[in-house]
Amino acid sequence: MTYKTHLSMGILFSSIVFLNVDKLELSTSLAIILFFSTLLGASTPDLDTPAGGLWQKIPAGSILSRIVRPVFIGGHRHLSHSLIGMGIFIFLYSLLLKWLGLFFPLLPITSYYILLSFVLGYASHLFADSLTEDGVPLLFPLDYHFGIPPNPFQKVRIKTGQWFENLVVYPLVNLAILIIIYQYYIHIVKR
Ligand SMILES: [Zn+2]
Repeated sequence: MTYKTHLSMGILFSSIVFLNVDKLELSTSLAIILFFSTLLGASTPDLDTPAGGLWQKIPAGSILSRIVRPVFIGGHRHLSHSLIGMGIFIFLYSLLLKWLGLFFPLLPITSYYILLSFVLGYASHLFADSLTEDGVPLLFPLDYHFGIPPNPFQKVRIKTGQWFENLVVYPLVNLAILIIIYQYYIHIVKR
């Protein structure tokens, strides 16, 4: 999937959990933190490619991306698109939150939500890529790529950046986000 679809898919996953299932009463500042933490989680798996959206946003991103590339064993859609990779990045992010917590002490529940938003963003990325022809190597270093629908039906999966993603998936994901936000708003107003 393209970067914009990954970002929207991440926000959809977070909206479902925080606004639809948990119906959390979020302060504006926490909502903004969860929003960006989700976007970070949704961007992280594609740090393995210099064309990854996050690299484009950072100054000297393409040079930096080449420096950190060896960390992403196997190149694009390998370690960072697997369960082990997801575990490693969640662990690193939790360390970062702990370190940041030294400067901005947070309630444990707040740190939990921030970590959860990153996990949701990351999981949404693997889910979205599993809908594409290439699928994802969830059990890396095993080379088998999982997809929805499973093989041998990979031909009916989505082609990244083509009309189906841009004209159907992307608008539908954004529409779903708007519906969830609207329902959440009605729920808050009613109380
Ligand atoms: Zn990806």
